[in-house]
Amino acid sequence: MAMLSIIVPCYNEEAVVDRFYEVMQDTLQKLPMQKEYIFVDDGSKDKTLELLQSLNKRDPSAHYVSFSRNFGKEAAIFAGLHEAKGDAVVVMDVDLQHPPETILEMVELWKEGYEVIEGVKSSRGRESIMHRVMAGSFYSLISRFMGMDMKNSSDFKFLDRKVVEVLCSLRERNTFFRALSFWVGFKTTNIPYDVQERVGGTTKWSLISLVKYAIQNMISFTFAPLYMIITAGIIFVILGLMLAIDAIVDHINGIAVAGYPTLVVLLVFATGCIMFSIGIIGVYIAKIYDEIKERPQYIVRDRA
Ligand code: UDP
Ligand code: MG
Repeated sequence: MAMLSIIVPCYNEEAVVDRFYEVMQDTLQKLPMQKEYIFVDDGSKDKTLELLQSLNKRDPSAHYVSFSRNFGKEAAIFAGLHEAKGDAVVVMDVDLQHPPETILEMVELWKEGYEVIEGVKSSRGRESIMHRVMAGSFYSLISRFMGMDMKNSSDFKFLDRKVVEVLCSLRERNTFFRALSFWVGFKTTNIPYDVQERVGGTTKWSLISLVKYAIQNMISFTFAPLYMIITAGIIFVILGLMLAIDAIVDHINGIAVAGYPTLVVLLVFATGCIMFSIGIIGVYIAKIYDEIKERPQYIVRDRA
């Protein structure tokens, strides 16, 4: 019988771990596949690990990997992919925002021959306006750069063994799972699902962590910001030349003005542009430095 690995990143999720397992067992009861769970404890500070350990005692197919500290959801997903032994894997959140019933439909599509089945949000669930606007602009930007529609993409995905092997062989550590599963190609399809309310606990994302996540992923997937700098630079050079010609003409006509305010404005503006550009370049260099150190994406402290 084919085996399905269920990969579940968990960070401070004591409120929902047991509930998640029960609902999953219930929903997947009739699934004619062998199952294994790979819970990844992403350095939780609450009782998550204890709960996973006792779960493993009750059900030996509920495995866990525990990190030495919090390494982030990306690292947790990849740790799960490395551990998984199934012929197919599904990655999902522990808070039941990804409806377990959808897995049954995903399995059907997998049997039809699809190798990457992307869960796509048909509605984004409850989010603050701020979150909605920021996420919206980030995804429309990155969708444009990547030539794919990422607006409603999520980390809820079903992958064939072949795809897992490819993802595990990638050597980069600044991963962006959502986009990588698209980047690798293979026979892909989408499946819409309604984002559910979190069953317990609270979201692990703050505004700052979301902004960092957006910048990181943008940097790891595109050089477009660098081209934007070059374009802006060219525009400014042309503008500068035109201003210079204008100044010379004014001088010849004897109508040159003091122009002190203009000078200050231009100076501040130009300095701002330069700082912004250097900042963008700096972030790319930092990423190169980060990758070149070849540190592991995560450190495992305990597993079962
Ligand atoms: N998560 C994780 N490491 C982190 C943050 C989150 O493993 O540093 C897990 C979390 O336990 C959950 C999933 O990632 O299973 C999604 O997190 P959350 O529900 O907080 O995000 P949201 O659904 O609000 O985007
Ligand atoms: Mg959630």
